[in-house]
Amino acid sequence: YFLSRIEAEKRWNAYLDVNAHLSLEQANKADTLIAAGKGTRLTGIPVAHKDVFVTRGWKSTAASKILENYQSPFDATVVANLGMPSEKNPHGAGMVCLGKTNMDEFAMGSSNENSAFGPVLNPWNGQYVSGGSSGGSAAAVAAGLAPIATGSDTGGSIRQPSAFCGITGIKPSYGRVSRYGMIAYASSLDQAGPMGKTAEDCALLLTAMSSHDPRDSTSLADSGEDYSRFLNKPWQDSSTNSAKPLEGLRVGLPKEFFAEGLAQDVANAVNAAAKALADLGATLVEVSLPKTKLSIPVYYVLAPAEASSNLSRFDGVRYGHRANEYKDLGDMYQKSRTEGFGAEVRRRILIGTYVLCHGYYDAYYLQAQKIRRIIAADFQAAFNQCDVILGPVAPDVAWRLGEKSKDPVQMYLEDIYTLSTNLAGLPAMSVPCGFNANDLPIGMQLIGNYFSEARLLQVAHQYQ
Ligand code: GLN
Repeated sequence: YFLSRIEAEKRWNAYLDVNAHLSLEQANKADTLIAAGKGTRLTGIPVAHKDVFVTRGWKSTAASKILENYQSPFDATVVANLGMPSEKNPHGAGMVCLGKTNMDEFAMGSSNENSAFGPVLNPWNGQYVSGGSSGGSAAAVAAGLAPIATGSDTGGSIRQPSAFCGITGIKPSYGRVSRYGMIAYASSLDQAGPMGKTAEDCALLLTAMSSHDPRDSTSLADSGEDYSRFLNKPWQDSSTNSAKPLEGLRVGLPKEFFAEGLAQDVANAVNAAAKALADLGATLVEVSLPKTKLSIPVYYVLAPAEASSNLSRFDGVRYGHRANEYKDLGDMYQKSRTEGFGAEVRRRILIGTYVLCHGYYDAYYLQAQKIRRIIAADFQAAFNQCDVILGPVAPDVAWRLGEKSKDPVQMYLEDIYTLSTNLAGLPAMSVPCGFNANDLPIGMQLIGNYFSEARLLQVAHQYQ
């Protein structure tokens, strides 16, 4: 069913690679597992993977020309955890891979227009962007080309396309999900997570995705957590049957998230969602995240710095594209990289190299690291007053294709509400909360303290 939908709905450009033969082979295997009573609760359910996760059998390109046609000899841990069980992978959930979804090149972007293989169109209106960088996963779920998908979020890449396409997505706490086999953008910020129709679907996928992985040194000890365990429970254990489900929950509204720059229809939808949470029993409190504005310059120093280092491995020797003609080794590196990387990726490598230079390091990189600490501390102060933070995901709904691509800084400003949680390492999710006058979806953001994913999913599920 999904393979024929993908074939019929190519116009959204949501997928970069499908391999029907392999998918059907996995589906048959899943049938056998289920018949033998060996399935998990996800066995046989199809899943699409963002092309940032390396997969055996499908191409793994991170939407870059430099990796065009690249085939990985192994599966990312996320792919293995969700995939077919085998002797080597005994805990595989048995889900069927549908293919690889389009994205901004190396996950750098907020609109999916930076893909080397063309933008993803928004299924609600094909003249608008899908958001980025996990735009292919968001559009695939929104258009019914996959029941659920994986994404990665370095500064909003799960949450913002989820908001633009009207689906639900969660970026877990840093370290929850293994980064092994996830093509690195900014390693201290990158985190994988699920993108689905509902919080319930995301809870089931996240439970299967996360595990301790000795091959990722930042991977947390496996708590064996079931992220769906609170979905249908009241917020307070002690609540009586007559109490409202979210009685006792304190929802913090950061005043900096509702200030200048936020579109009125987005503000209205998020305020209506706050009221809906209050109707379910929650108490609303105003909180402050004073350094919100600084998250943009801090992120756009640190992420390019890490990217410039991570992307040095693409040298025309070890992976992917190599220039046809060159004079010597230096020329070969230069030509291969110039031909292989798109404009935004080159821009970030240059910024990153610059801020790491001797003489500029103290002025930019070190300063940014210090402010990153302050941003994380601001969240802890806010969590003294509330249990979850509610705000918009982005200042506006999806924009028209091409509208912001001329000015990179204008595009960076769109990330204002999502970057700070990656800088702090906190879990955050995007939940659909309405439409604007042009029928484009609006998303609200729920941010929790470290390791509170199950609680965030609970609030979102009660709301949905
Ligand atoms: N839009 C941000 C960027 O361009 C975040 C992307 C992401 O989360 N991967 O870097």
